[in-house]
Amino acid sequence: NIDRLEQIDAYTWRLNPETGMHVPAILYGDEALVRAMDDKVLEQAANVARLPGIVQASYAMPDAHWGYGFPIGGVAAFDAGAGGVVSAGGVGFDVSCGVRTLLTGLKRAAIEPVKPLLADALYADIPVGLGSHGKIRLDAKGLDAMLKGGAQWAVEQGWGEARDLARIEEHGRMEGARPENVSARAKERQRAEMGTLGSGNHYLEVQEVTEIFDAGTAQSFGIAEGDMVVSIHCGSRGLGHQIGTEYLRLMQAAAKQYGIALPDRELACAPIESEVGQDYLGAMRAAINCALANRQILTHLTRQVFARVLPAARLELLYDVSHNTCKFEEHLVDGERRRLYVHRKGATRAFGPNHPDLPAAFAETGQPVLIGGSMGTASYILAGTSRSETLSFASACHGAGRSMSRHQATRTWQGRQVIDQLAERGILIRSPSYRGVAEEAPGAYKDVDAVVRASDRAGLARLIARLEPIVCIKG
Ligand code: 5GP
Ligand code: MN
Ligand code: MN
Repeated sequence: NIDRLEQIDAYTWRLNPETGMHVPAILYGDEALVRAMDDKVLEQAANVARLPGIVQASYAMPDAHWGYGFPIGGVAAFDAGAGGVVSAGGVGFDVSCGVRTLLTGLKRAAIEPVKPLLADALYADIPVGLGSHGKIRLDAKGLDAMLKGGAQWAVEQGWGEARDLARIEEHGRMEGARPENVSARAKERQRAEMGTLGSGNHYLEVQEVTEIFDAGTAQSFGIAEGDMVVSIHCGSRGLGHQIGTEYLRLMQAAAKQYGIALPDRELACAPIESEVGQDYLGAMRAAINCALANRQILTHLTRQVFARVLPAARLELLYDVSHNTCKFEEHLVDGERRRLYVHRKGATRAFGPNHPDLPAAFAETGQPVLIGGSMGTASYILAGTSRSETLSFASACHGAGRSMSRHQATRTWQGRQVIDQLAERGILIRSPSYRGVAEEAPGAYKDVDAVVRASDRAGLARLIARLEPIVCIKG
């Protein structure tokens, strides 16, 4: 597979346009990562390059692995005026899945003596697991207000602080959400799921900052070696999944109606300016608000636990970034400013210094780019660069990326053993599902150190800090 690629530099590989491709496909990663990527990634990235109205290139980040239609770790931008499309599979089923990181103001020594207590208290108060329900019940009016208001709505309801909002993409509220485009079924699924973590790879993790790569930026972010932070990874729960499922079907019909030749059925899409395209964007933006509200409520629950167990903790929000979205953004393409619909599926937005959409706090550093690793390896904080705006529509990796299917992982590990082995290393896991833990075993993921190094060297984002897990609440 790598033989089909032209190597541009040590971290950049290009598939020049083949039959039907409007633009090249570009893969980022060192040679070992690109060699190890499943063949499907290249095939999928090439197929995305065949969709109408795609601009510049179809990208795969260093953590890319195959997904539904689009690779996970894929980035693609479309021009509405050039017949560009929007695709539910290009956003992903867990719309606006993302990570937020909270600074505790505590060092390891403060947490170590109460570690099991903290783990148990978090596990008791954070609803987690497949189909878990929270304490919040929304009626139809409340649900619509949430879908329009996002984290701003959550703060108005008393979950969190107004100052959190400056530290969330879109200031906590995605414009253009249209709850009327979200089906009754999708809303029904979400009624009891606000403030829940969900299952699988979603987590709430207490982490220690074990290494700083850029002291100036770390200081500006408020992090130093030995600090303890809390990271929360989850998305729009049942609502986002239902929206993805329903619009995929509508897009299959729309693609046919508009005569879009799909290289793969899973790439179902609709012209941005079509009715289905616009309806999906309205529904997807509502799902973004759902995810932002959900992470905001989980933050509030986390603060309540810390207030009891470790009252000295602060829990200031560093930032909240999503990695499954389609956003209308301005980008420089061949010297020309263009407004494009940027799909990031398992890719983190990574705006560099002085980007107008960033809060003043990040004007000099670029935005924090929050990367999960696994419950037994490092996670990372990176920062956006100006260069990534020219390399990948300002996007970077979103995690380590799976190297093994969930099914294969459950045949390779047993959840109980994974938990015991991690406990020996001082990492406490709390999860309702042994099977889930086996599926998420650290060995089922790529080498996160290599992935973030490649992201840094390729220029997609800059390494700022390394985090190691201490406590992980896992779906
Ligand atoms: P995804 O958004 O694709 O579901 O997952 C994002 C990334 O989270 C994965 O690629 C993986 O590297 C990371 N991840 C999965 N489980 C855990 C966990 O328990 N802890 C941490 N820190 N990262 C995880
Ligand atoms: Mn998710
Ligand atoms: Mn995610």
